Amino acid sequence: MDTSKGLVLVVEDEPAIADLERLYLTRAGYGVHVERDGTGVVDVVRRLGPVLIVLDVGLPGLDGIEVCRRLRAAEDWTPIIFVTARDDEVDRIVGLELGADDYVTKPFSPRELVARVASLVRRAQGPGRVSPLELAGVRLDPASRTVLSAGTEVVLTATEFDLLAALMRRPGQVFTREQLLSAVWGTAHYGGTRTVDVHIAQLRSKLGADAPIRTHRGVGYSATAAGREP
Ligand code: CA
Repeated sequence: MDTSKGLVLVVEDEPAIADLERLYLTRAGYGVHVERDGTGVVDVVRRLGPVLIVLDVGLPGLDGIEVCRRLRAAEDWTPIIFVTARDDEVDRIVGLELGADDYVTKPFSPRELVARVASLVRRAQGPGRVSPLELAGVRLDPASRTVLSAGTEVVLTATEFDLLAALMRRPGQVFTREQLLSAVWGTAHYGGTRTVDVHIAQLRSKLGADAPIRTHRGVGYSATAAGREP
């Protein structure tokens, strides 16, 4: 079996869904390890070092959001795709400040899930050999995927990093929310443009008052040395 693309940890208590995810991810070239409940996930991640976690929200024991919270509290930034069954869970996930990188809603297409996994793994592993970008005291290094603000490292999720990189690659250019969704999440993303606003807000709260992101009311966002607002 070719599992050369790395190990994906699937956390799912419904056997039929876990089997489907395992089947499609295995076919796509990933190794797959399945956990049926949330309690042991932090230890399993530490032990197996997956390239990504497909994490059901509704789990016995520890729910998916609490699992994510504990991973991030332990400074583990493994990319996470949440699998959710309910709209109110989507609101909780999108509003998370602790690093939900993407989500799919049940019932979902397994092909769509595999596409999201591939996209997020690719983004998390980075393009390599790209020059660092600097703007208004913020230094973003695509090779090491690190961000320094006034010389201090700022820990970002994979999605926050890609959003900031998309803006900083073209300083001064105004991007619409749709353009950012397409560039960062892929055109097929269901999340809607509010996802962009939520992640921009998270970036600003992490980068502080001098975040080089400007809001263009009714249009979108740009990276600018002038900071938050005109
Ligand atoms: Ca479940």
